[in-house]
Amino acid sequence: MRERLASVLFGGSCFLCRGAARALLCAQCEAELPRLHRSLCPRCALESPLGAVCGRCLSESPAYDATHAALAYDFPADALVHALKFRGELALASLFAGLLAPKLAHARVDHVVPVPLSAERLRQRGYNQAVEIARRLGKPVDFALCERTREAPPQMELPYAERQRNVRGAFRCTRALAGARVAVVDDVMTTGATLDEMARTLKAAGAVHVENWVVARTLPHV
Ligand SMILES: [Zn+2]
Ligand SMILES: [Zn+2]
Repeated sequence: MRERLASVLFGGSCFLCRGAARALLCAQCEAELPRLHRSLCPRCALESPLGAVCGRCLSESPAYDATHAALAYDFPADALVHALKFRGELALASLFAGLLAPKLAHARVDHVVPVPLSAERLRQRGYNQAVEIARRLGKPVDFALCERTREAPPQMELPYAERQRNVRGAFRCTRALAGARVAVVDDVMTTGATLDEMARTLKAAGAVHVENWVVARTLPHV
């Protein structure tokens, strides 16, 4: 219903440039999205020569085993993610799921889990953007497998070590996962601290493989 309403509001014009469009974005804006297809570290989806596991993943091995990301978190992907997250533009979740799905053709997982929001944050926002993306991927989603026990303070300005402390113990699995392969869905992966903590929690519950399915990856800008 909300999605139908959104398409009525867009009225056949591109969400980004307002030009004529038959989908959420016109063909040109869709073609210009900052897609990730350089050689990436299979573990964290940052650039890595020849697609090998990168130095950081080798030296500070994260709890997750793989990351699939569709876009770089650059303009306009950042604006689109923001519109889904804070302005309730839920139709964007379909666009994101459509961009992510081709990357998952060979993924072999038993559970698909969105990064949960705390009950309080969910009440304030009315929806969880990770849930909205996950439910449009065309795979069964396990909405209740993980809970957020507390909302970490905003991560934006914190260095990695502090972000990691910030999210420590923020999630809980609601059942045992012995031997399971799990995919965790989120909108953006920045330092990866939140996803690292999710993976740590899932593995403590028995998961043997955890991979991240994220719409956009923040790239280091030097
Ligand atoms: Zn456009
Ligand atoms: Zn890496």
